[in-house]
Amino acid sequence: KTIDIASPARTQAILNQYGLRAKKKFGQNFLTDGNILSGIVSAADLGPEDHVVEIGPGIGGLTEYLARAAKAVLAFEIDPDMVKILAETLAPYDNVQVREQDVLEADLKTVLAKYFGEGAAVKVVANLPYYITTPILLALLQADLNWQQLVVMMQKEVADRLSAKPGTKEYGVLTVMLDYYAAVSVALKVPAAAFNPAPNVDSAVVSLTPKPAERPVDSPKQLFSLVKSCFAHRRKSLWNNLLQRFGKEEGVKDQLRAALQEAGIESGIRAERLTLSDFTDLYLALKKQEL
Ligand code: SAM
Repeated sequence: KTIDIASPARTQAILNQYGLRAKKKFGQNFLTDGNILSGIVSAADLGPEDHVVEIGPGIGGLTEYLARAAKAVLAFEIDPDMVKILAETLAPYDNVQVREQDVLEADLKTVLAKYFGEGAAVKVVANLPYYITTPILLALLQADLNWQQLVVMMQKEVADRLSAKPGTKEYGVLTVMLDYYAAVSVALKVPAAAFNPAPNVDSAVVSLTPKPAERPVDSPKQLFSLVKSCFAHRRKSLWNNLLQRFGKEEGVKDQLRAALQEAGIESGIRAERLTLSDFTDLYLALKKQEL
């Protein structure tokens, strides 16, 4: 009987065999807990029809579970040393393709079309490299993919920000942007001991399901750019952040006052009190003022 790649002993043996250690600069922490891996597969509700995209397969511990449960897996891996290992560890699975590429450099829509067919439905399942969790999430959400579910491991602090309520310290740009695209739930909490090496933070597996924007805007990019500016100085008022973005000339101030009034938002408030819907109101009112 073959031993799972992710088992603690085999993980260590593979690293030893190749004379490698987990690389911090690539956020390498390998999952070695079979219960967590099974939990990820059930959270993604994987079945024999599913196309799965994995980001950062590492030595293949999670990939193996995905390959057993799904139809096909495409895995992006940046580290050539890992790609070499994967050629051996994943050899028994003919439904896995590893692509040596920085996922943030990939034209995701085009690449996925190449592997799975134009517009094919995909699920993204990954134990993310934590140093780039936010850019990866934003890239996935903004790539206009036909995604059915994202099931991703991240550090708990970031997971908390994804589903934060307005007025809390976790609430911010990421919360508002996520709310535009997805419904968020925490599927699993994961202790540091589930990894080799153990990260120095707690982790959580988050499940995102797509939701149509309640109030779609012409350019989500511009909306988020506004949201970012409003949170630029969290402790300062919305008004001060808006002046910083648009300028302090009297004419601009008049336009800003008019926009705030139309949006029904008090200028003294802080961004952390505003919902996605408030930001949308503000965005539309500013546009009307040609700001
Ligand atoms: N999936 C494995 C597991 O669960 O044991 C490894 C997860 S490890 C937390 C993150 C993986 O992402 C590493 O294999 C790392 O080399 C890879 N990685 C880091 N930055 C990346 C990037 N920009 N594009 C693709 N993969 C990346």
